[in-house]
Amino acid sequence: MPKIVLVIFSLSLIPLTVTAEEVRPIVFPVEGEVSFSDSYGDSRSGGRVHEGVDIFAPKMRPLIATVDGRITMLPQNEPYYGYAIYRYIHVNNDTPGTDDGQGGVVYAYAPTITDNARVVAGQLLGWVGDSGNAENVGSHLHFEIHTPDGTPINPYLSLVNASHPGAFDPEITKQTAPTINDDKQLLSISSPACQSNTLVKASTDAVYYCGADGQRYVFPNQKIYLSWYTNFSGVITITDAELANIPLGGNVTYRPGVRMVKMTTDPKVYAVAAGGILRHVTSPELARSIYGEDWNTLVDDLSDAFFVNYHLGDPITTIF
Ligand SMILES: [Zn+2]
Repeated sequence: MPKIVLVIFSLSLIPLTVTAEEVRPIVFPVEGEVSFSDSYGDSRSGGRVHEGVDIFAPKMRPLIATVDGRITMLPQNEPYYGYAIYRYIHVNNDTPGTDDGQGGVVYAYAPTITDNARVVAGQLLGWVGDSGNAENVGSHLHFEIHTPDGTPINPYLSLVNASHPGAFDPEITKQTAPTINDDKQLLSISSPACQSNTLVKASTDAVYYCGADGQRYVFPNQKIYLSWYTNFSGVITITDAELANIPLGGNVTYRPGVRMVKMTTDPKVYAVAAGGILRHVTSPELARSIYGEDWNTLVDDLSDAFFVNYHLGDPITTIF
């Protein structure tokens, strides 16, 4: 019995000890490629302790709201620690392209950001800089997370796990859908008419994917097939009667992350995300940085008839 009492006692202590490792769901506060490490708790001059994480990025990189909220601190005259948007510190103070310290609030805070303004996660707040006592450290965002009572918590794990709404990583996207069952999130049924995650054909050339839901899915063309499979060696031949017995489920869409598509009637290029979600690649430069120099060889024309199998998602605005 005393052991049980001990367990209960130690459980009640856990919230006190895990606070520093808490992960808050946030949008990453800086757009684009950055570098940061767990610098929370490091010692600083004058016996101070570092109550945030420093995120290094070039000047004038967009600073993004991590959560929905209200701006409660927005100094208009640069304090010793620099311009700040609440817990975003060292916001830019330079005229763009210089290190003159003369940028003023117009190059620190976005026009819509005023004291008391309401913001939503993902909104532009201002720009990265080296204001205040970061002047000789290099431009970075000093970022803190505090509990409502003002206690700082280590933001490192929240930053590692933060979402990057405008970003797209083909490799990570590809891993989200190893099979068409995963991509379509098909649920298994008992005694299906064909074996889940196999390829079947009958007397014609048409190849079908057999889903976990016991239905067969059509590959609208060979390019879509080849985004999932490198050859036709795994295809099982069944009789026409057996094929007819398997209900038709719908069309297979491109494997996410592999190729990009455009409509024949619209020049916009889209990357494919899981579940047939199309995300507009907003510039050729972005397409190049995501898919490499030969990105335009990875764009397939998709006929309007098949376009209806897809849904539009958020545009891609950054690679990270
Ligand atoms: Zn710092």
